[in-house]
Amino acid sequence: MRLLRLFFLSLIIFPVGLLADQSTSWIGKEVFVFRENSRGIWTVWDRLNGRHLFYAKSLLLDDIRFEVDQEIREGILIQGRRRPHAGVYGKLQAVEPEPPSKSWHEVRYNPFEMNWFQLVSSARPIRSAKKAYFHENGRQVFVFHPQYFKKEFKLINSSGEIYLSPLPGAFGGHRGLKIYGRLDCRSALSWIRRGYYTEHRVFAATRIEFLKAGYRACKKCKP
Ligand SMILES: [Zn+2]
Repeated sequence: MRLLRLFFLSLIIFPVGLLADQSTSWIGKEVFVFRENSRGIWTVWDRLNGRHLFYAKSLLLDDIRFEVDQEIREGILIQGRRRPHAGVYGKLQAVEPEPPSKSWHEVRYNPFEMNWFQLVSSARPIRSAKKAYFHENGRQVFVFHPQYFKKEFKLINSSGEIYLSPLPGAFGGHRGLKIYGRLDCRSALSWIRRGYYTEHRVFAATRIEFLKAGYRACKKCKP
């Protein structure tokens, strides 16, 4: 996670990269790829020393793993302004290759709706995959042979809708009363112990999701 932060800090310091035609010398090497939102293009970094390498319209990566910096994501939810914080680690296989066949699965990620990349087909959070294809439209990512997390947690997003997350919620709430609080809130735990609340209990990754979904903070635990 610290390495990931380093990538994004370097992006601000060194915004100019090499052209894509120098990119083939990086084939077979470990890289980190994310979307450059302002340009609608993929940006490729050296995984080992966090150095920007080049921009590319489309890419093919092997043995990939997804990563999301949760702290930066929380900042985005508060400020509403997009910042790079999510990307894919892997081994560079091809630069601007032919698009893959139909057996590939589309992956989506929207920091306002979920805290992790998920498969469009099953809505399950995705941990890694054999291969990833970064589409030339600069938006879509497709994966081949996806792998999932051992555990998945049901969280609510800013619209109050349930989604599957690989990380447990950091705050808990009551869906009926529209109150949210800390996980160790004594008031909530006491209701749960007496057999109430459990069936109405929902969780969220940050306070922001609860607030945007119309919940108010518990007066006892002051989350
Ligand atoms: Zn509370």
